[in-house]
Amino acid sequence: MSETIYDLIIIGGGPAGLTAGIYASREGMSALVLEKGMCGGQVAITGLVENYPGFPDGINGMELIKKFKAQAQRFGVKISELTQVKSLQPLDGKIKVETDKQKYLARTIIITAGALPKRLDIPGEKELTGKGVSYCATCDGPLFRNKDVAIVGGGNAALEEALFLAKFAKKVILIHRRNELRGAKILQDQLQKMKNVEFFLNYNLVSINGETCVDSIVAKEKQTGKQKTIKVQGVFIYIGFLPNSLALKGIIDLDNEGYVKTDEKMKTSMPGVYAAGDIRSKDIRQISTACGDGTIAALSVREYLKP
Ligand code: NAP
Repeated sequence: MSETIYDLIIIGGGPAGLTAGIYASREGMSALVLEKGMCGGQVAITGLVENYPGFPDGINGMELIKKFKAQAQRFGVKISELTQVKSLQPLDGKIKVETDKQKYLARTIIITAGALPKRLDIPGEKELTGKGVSYCATCDGPLFRNKDVAIVGGGNAALEEALFLAKFAKKVILIHRRNELRGAKILQDQLQKMKNVEFFLNYNLVSINGETCVDSIVAKEKQTGKQKTIKVQGVFIYIGFLPNSLALKGIIDLDNEGYVKTDEKMKTSMPGVYAAGDIRSKDIRQISTACGDGTIAALSVREYLKP
């Protein structure tokens, strides 16, 4: 067990967690961020972020996260990357946090563990992941220069990443299960203007095929049931996210989809434990709203810790 008792342990080093760290340390709290991978969450795998205020020309996701992290560290936040939290347990008015490396004690916790990409669960998806199937266009997109790729989903993430892929892929096929796209109108308009983007609306992806790597997909028109085999070398899946809350089941109240329930002060059902960002049960999940949640959570912790 670490000898230090932290005022606050933040689980997750994305925008919500790092913002909470900045506010907490500026309030004089000792704060430790535990991050299972490298800081950044989904932002770190986003190409150009154009809707986070303060960057009129947009900013690369990784660059933005570097700035968040540097700002948190400047105010004294400790960050432990590649540290996976296994469990939380109340202990003598504090909370014991067990990780894959060591145990910590904290007076309060803010959970900002974010969410993971959803899978389609269709034949070929699992087998060909890393062999043409990807959940990160920013990471893997450049491998598909002058090739044909499909992207599945109709939300902001799918539309943004389709735009990114269209800059260098020969052709981008956007497959969406409804006639109407969910993502922002500005993104839809930009995509409509791209000559190498083809829309397959009202289609479901049925299978992804290939021996050693992806060579085709089968998509099914929903109304007629007619199937089409399309030659592609890459498939990017952007159909939303699942909350990273497995370790919290049975410990903290979650909603039906597994997101953490909080009140408007970001308080969860467990005393001293708060949640912020994409893992929280709410409607809007943006970088700016994650930062807002992180701010509220840190300032609520300050109130909670007041003698
Ligand atoms: P999302 O908005 O939930 O969209 C998921 C898309 O995938 C929807 O179009 C949905 O179809 C489709 N889908 C879901 N399950 C499916 C399945 N089993 N088979 C086929 N299609 C399926 O998710 P997201 O685009 O990942 O975005 C998540 C959150 O982050 C959103 O709040 C989004 O606004 C935000 N975000 C914002 C930005 C930005 O503003 N710069 C960028 C990325 C993400 P239906 O439409 O039919 O439900």
